[in-house]
Amino acid sequence: MTRTLLRSAAYLDVAAGEIVHDDVLIDGDVIGSGAEADETVDCRGMLLVPGFIDCHTHVALTEVLSANWLDLPRSARALSAVPVLRTLLSLGVTTVRDAWGADAGLRLAVERGWIDGPQLLISLRQVCTTGGIGDHYSVASGPVGGYAEPSMPDPVFDGADGARAAVRRMVRAGADWIKAAITGSIAAGTGVHDVQFTPDEMRALVEEAAARGRDVMVHAHGARGAELAASCGARSIEHGVYLDEQAVEAMAVNGTFYVPTLSCSKIPEHRRSVRLAVDAGVPIAMGTDNPVTPHSTVLDEISLLAEVGLGAVGALRAATINAAQLLRLPDRGEIAVGKRADLVLLDGDDLDVSHLADRVKAVWHNGKRYR
Ligand SMILES: [Zn+2]
Repeated sequence: MTRTLLRSAAYLDVAAGEIVHDDVLIDGDVIGSGAEADETVDCRGMLLVPGFIDCHTHVALTEVLSANWLDLPRSARALSAVPVLRTLLSLGVTTVRDAWGADAGLRLAVERGWIDGPQLLISLRQVCTTGGIGDHYSVASGPVGGYAEPSMPDPVFDGADGARAAVRRMVRAGADWIKAAITGSIAAGTGVHDVQFTPDEMRALVEEAAARGRDVMVHAHGARGAELAASCGARSIEHGVYLDEQAVEAMAVNGTFYVPTLSCSKIPEHRRSVRLAVDAGVPIAMGTDNPVTPHSTVLDEISLLAEVGLGAVGALRAATINAAQLLRLPDRGEIAVGKRADLVLLDGDDLDVSHLADRVKAVWHNGKRYR
């Protein structure tokens, strides 16, 4: 096992919110202690931060946004993720939660080292009731092809028993997370304030997921959908463009995380929702909803979070320790002895997060230097 000493490092202690000046030792795949090393990297004038975590991305949907995606073979969708995963890792993103689109084959390809990429947690498809945003359906031709295959199970359900069956289908095909859509989407342009699950359906999703050791991430734009999902035990609310006081209160009381994905909308209501959530004490985690904006701009989300009221440290926490807590991955998200050696070395030792992508000098993933 190689021991690499990052000498004279300034690193961000995300828990304390302070910059610490000390050497950091990478011991195999974890952060170790001591100064004995096989190699050293001079980190003077640079800042080490934990590997970034994008809690809401779509690594395999870049081609789906193109005009002719229905004419592409299915393999094209999976292969389109290869350069995306490489780009994310080169920018210091070492863990991602895919919010639908990636299947278990892609996760396996990363695990086996066939392709380079962050650790990939998958949700397969977004479960919803008939006519919801996961129900790709044409009144002319019926279900829209391209997604329906054994590795990407049918996400549409109705009723509490149907909700349980939908969770079981996703788990059977290897989902790490259950992604559910309780409202319409801004992209689809309809139903953003609708509540498309009954309380029984929402509860059944959470209960069945929990019984299988999974959590539920819920796409919700309208406040009432977010409130219902939070009160039924959803682990995170995604987007939450139109939250109100009552919704953020339900999230705070239930310990629900909020993944605002500011990259996907710049409207004032959305920024207001984030400020309401912060004031209510809701934990915020970073997610982009890319490829709504290009994956190469992933780190812009951190700067958007900083600007909207989290500040630089709060935004970096959202992308590291808070994200790790949301994902129940206690082995990462901060620079401390025993944690996974997922590290990003930034040029300059200041906490300005406005141009992070330009500052990335080196990336270690599981202790292995990628860049
Ligand atoms: Zn999304």
